[in-house]
Amino acid sequence: LARHHPHAHQRYIEGQDERHLRQLTLIRDLRDAVSNNELWMAYQPKVTTQTGQVCQFEALMRWRHPSLGFVPPDEFIGLAERSGNIRQLSQWMLEHVAAQLYQWQEEGYRVSVAVNLSASDVSDSRLARQLADLLERYQLAADQFSLEVTESAVMQDIDAAARTLEELSQLGVSIAIDDYGTGYSSLAQLKRLPVNELKIDKSFVLKLDTQDDDLTIVRSTIEMGHSLGLRIVAEGVENAASAALLNRLGCDYLQGYWIAKPMPSDEVAPWLNSVEP
Ligand code: C2E
Ligand code: CA
Ligand code: CA
Ligand code: CA
Repeated sequence: LARHHPHAHQRYIEGQDERHLRQLTLIRDLRDAVSNNELWMAYQPKVTTQTGQVCQFEALMRWRHPSLGFVPPDEFIGLAERSGNIRQLSQWMLEHVAAQLYQWQEEGYRVSVAVNLSASDVSDSRLARQLADLLERYQLAADQFSLEVTESAVMQDIDAAARTLEELSQLGVSIAIDDYGTGYSSLAQLKRLPVNELKIDKSFVLKLDTQDDDLTIVRSTIEMGHSLGLRIVAEGVENAASAALLNRLGCDYLQGYWIAKPMPSDEVAPWLNSVEP
């Protein structure tokens, strides 16, 4: 390769440098993203399969960098975790979502929102106290909050996670395992935790209508989950055929572009009217 393309190696190094430089910039600027008002939350409806009514919204973080533009959370959340900045983002997010729930409540809509937590959040012993304080300050019921944690976040320190999640569960917030099926944990391990819900990862759902092996995995996850008393959500529902299959398999809730994409709070209004009582 080097003989035919003398600069190939050089280009490779430059590509790496560029990526590294971008990461350093993002890590540096993430520290001020909160105070500079560059973050906001997008909301994606989750519907009850049987009725099509909204049962909950998932809150997803968004960042517009002043010069680099939109940065996807898959990129900046990981950087925030590694640079020790994630707790600051999570705290901003929880406060922001609670304030949003309060505002919707004032407008006459009692809504439930699911938020995403990372490994440092679930191993932080102050989290339950902080959430209890939020519920009180914004006059919210615990069942208006649901927490989504990935298997890998929980497995990083399962004892600490078990303690925190137990406290949160005592408060009355509901707990979901996100991206289920992509980690290496077993349902037996997860049963040590006060879990209420499994979210089947979108990689198994996106092509559900054409991939037989995905269908097999999804079917058995729903059966196993139900036999353990868990509610099942499918994320990444992108077409009617997949939605119909999930309905037939008894999947409790659906989420995906076929229903609605994540949207800024000022576009949520029409969906608020379809929230189930
Ligand atoms: P996630 O929690 O698994 O969220 C689902 C992701 O799939 C979201 O990407 C959502 O926009 C996208 N999605 C929803 N429906 C569909 C669909 O039908 N098709 C496809 N292809 N994608 C769909 P997003 O918003 O870019 O977030 C990516 C990840 O970033 C999230 O994955 C979550 O792990 C993380 N994240 C987002 N917000 C937060 C946050 O506030 N805190 C933490 N710790 N992580 C967050
Ligand atoms: Ca999630
Ligand atoms: Ca997920
Ligand atoms: Ca994910």
